[in-house]
Amino acid sequence: MSEYIKKFICPNACKANFYTTAHIMQEWEVDAEGDFVKVAIDLLQVSHEPDFDNIWVCVNCGEQGILIEGTNIDEESIYKKLAEGKSCT
Ligand SMILES: [Zn+2]
Repeated sequence: MSEYIKKFICPNACKANFYTTAHIMQEWEVDAEGDFVKVAIDLLQVSHEPDFDNIWVCVNCGEQGILIEGTNIDEESIYKKLAEGKSCT
């Protein structure tokens, strides 16, 4: 039994983390008309976790990540193909 995998990889094979967005809820101090004064609580709760529809950018090189998914994913061969593709251009 092989596990279904869904993940981002860096096309430069950095194997590093990624930057992407999450939607969070903040508590603000506002004036009587509701205009922003200052942030009272930075992170009240996470309203939307990062998802695979976002753009994910490699922390190490800044390249946009590539989403791979499926079973029996051979990451090393994917990196190899990416490297070969680059040498042709
Ligand atoms: Zn990278």
